[in-house]
Amino acid sequence: ALGLLLAAACNRDKKPEAAGAGGAAPDKAEKKIALLLPESKTARYESHDRPLFEQKVKALCPECQLIYSNADQNAAKQQDQAEAALTNGATVLVLDPVDSASASAIVARAKQSKVPVISYDRLIVNADVDYYISFDNEKVGQLQARALVDKLKADGKTSGTLVMINGSPTDNNAKLFKAGAHSVIDGSGFTVGAEYDTPDWSPDRAQQQMEQAITRLGKEAITGVYAANDGTAGGAIAAMKAAGVTPLPPVTGQDAELAGIQRILSGEQYVTVYKAIKPEAEAAAELAVALARGQPPEAGKVNGKVNNGKKDVPSILLMPVAVTRENVKSTVVADGFWTAGQICTGA
Ligand code: BGC
Repeated sequence: ALGLLLAAACNRDKKPEAAGAGGAAPDKAEKKIALLLPESKTARYESHDRPLFEQKVKALCPECQLIYSNADQNAAKQQDQAEAALTNGATVLVLDPVDSASASAIVARAKQSKVPVISYDRLIVNADVDYYISFDNEKVGQLQARALVDKLKADGKTSGTLVMINGSPTDNNAKLFKAGAHSVIDGSGFTVGAEYDTPDWSPDRAQQQMEQAITRLGKEAITGVYAANDGTAGGAIAAMKAAGVTPLPPVTGQDAELAGIQRILSGEQYVTVYKAIKPEAEAAAELAVALARGQPPEAGKVNGKVNNGKKDVPSILLMPVAVTRENVKSTVVADGFWTAGQICTGA
């Protein structure tokens, strides 16, 4: 409970609001960059992605204006927000889609207005997107499952029952995390006793799913829990604590959220996956500014191509890192993602 309070305190003065809506009359020479993020229940978007992206755009392009919207996990709302950004004169869209498939309609609409689209963190499929910036997401799932299986083996177990709590079925990343995790778990000796997708990545849904798994399998029977991110891990852990599962089995996560790191240090969660959001957000900002100015992107940053069903999308893919209590200091703290003070006091 303390961790939750502390984590909430860290977000106390972050309010989503449109930036740069100064009411100035639209000017053809204006450069307006719209950042459209998918939700705010997962802490990363308001704590890291948005501020890091906005700071970088302001530093690189004092004349650029920013438009920001958060869709609160609602694909229809995101469509409206994108429409509003385009009507408002956005010259580039940086879009992290709620729904990787239906967001193709947003891309088609942007293209009608000759506005380039950067697919941010989640791939927009079957759409004419200009760039994709993310992590190696199959690798994220592999790291999570590898850490879980290795931990169980180190604890002397060679078989047992796992519960898998995957991410949102509309998020292309969730599919990749799941595929990566299965590539390690299947054939590892451990069996999946219950597996769920979690609509909207909702921690509350994850908690209910874990309650169901406990009822179905019995609370003594769960050897380990694969949870796709720290939010769903928090839900799963809450369900196990409420049901009196002791000791808690190892649980995975992702995002190195403050609450997740605190649970790792208190021993409630075994592992998270740290994705350095700074280089991700800053690469998106650099590309967005270049596109707004009609310049080609800096050579060297684009390091791959990902096929989205329509085209090979020039991509920037970053590497994720597994974090347990052994390397919290050398990863998230060393990187300044969280300070030791924030982790220990929530300040
Ligand atoms: C992101 C994760 C995040 C999840 C829920 C995924 O697409 O890559 O970092 O935890 O969405 O928002």
